[in-house]
Amino acid sequence: MVKLAFAHALEISEDGAAPVLWAYDDIRQADSPAGLLRVSCLSAPPLARLEIRDAALESEIRLRCARLGENRIDGRAIGKIVGWSVAAVASIVLVVLFAIPLAADRLAPLVPKSFERRVGEASEVQIKALFGNRVCNRAAGQAAYAKLMRKLRKAADLDNDVESAVLATDVPNAFALPGGKVYLLRGLLAKADNPDEIAGVLAHELGHLKHHDNMRGLIYNGGTSFLIGLLFGDVTGSNALIFASRQLVTSSHSREAEQNADTMTIDVMHKLGRSPKPMGELLYRVTGKEGDKNLSILASHPLTEDRLQRMSGEDHPPSGPPLLSDKEWAALKGICDGVAKK
Ligand SMILES: [Zn+2]
Repeated sequence: MVKLAFAHALEISEDGAAPVLWAYDDIRQADSPAGLLRVSCLSAPPLARLEIRDAALESEIRLRCARLGENRIDGRAIGKIVGWSVAAVASIVLVVLFAIPLAADRLAPLVPKSFERRVGEASEVQIKALFGNRVCNRAAGQAAYAKLMRKLRKAADLDNDVESAVLATDVPNAFALPGGKVYLLRGLLAKADNPDEIAGVLAHELGHLKHHDNMRGLIYNGGTSFLIGLLFGDVTGSNALIFASRQLVTSSHSREAEQNADTMTIDVMHKLGRSPKPMGELLYRVTGKEGDKNLSILASHPLTEDRLQRMSGEDHPPSGPPLLSDKEWAALKGICDGVAKK
């Protein structure tokens, strides 16, 4: 038989033994079936429990023990823990979906040129390896390509001192690296009928450079893979670099970035007294209506049909000299002669 007395603390006496004192502030409610109040005490042995069935006693305990409900792991507390876990996962997802793109948008224009160039050089090694290190090197062709790039860069108001190259691969594509290098792939050059078609494509890539779209993509994908790496405990710089390099070549930009790059093509070609329409025609010829989703310049929104329509709307008869002479164009077309194809 247990007797309870309410003194300065709760006095619990059992079968005539000396009473045990539970300070009211130390008493906590434990889990119990309905109709029963079960309490423990912080200063008592951990398994000690007092069970109260009497309603009057229970209300007396509730009245005196102000901290009765603290530290209870009940359904509500478990719900809270689950809620916080969900919130933590959700916040990572939110960071990936919103914060990283936002940060990439804000950061990309602020990245120093020298750093951008270093990133470009680091990924260039990977990318050349990806295409079997087949750089087209016929001197006359290289001179023609350099001349074309010089004119385009000047019209685009971009630095002039960056080398660009043609790679001997049948993939019909072109891409730019952070820092300014623009690569043209033989597959696209082979399908081109005149310098304006190629010039428009290169101007589009210069647009991506000018708007830091490539750097933005790197920060975005780098940030995402970093976070995913954190989740799965695998953050390796070299993997990130290889991944980023591939991503530079294969991924497409946002629809808005593509449209802005096309605007650069229109501006640059008009500045040079040429039409942007041939670029639309080349891409339409290569991809058809839908576009091949696997190639960045071609996968890009807007669909090549919409692009051709836009470029046609900007078509003017040439008011400037041809960008390359017939001889230079022939040299450019033959820039990969003698380089093994991949
Ligand atoms: Zn593009």
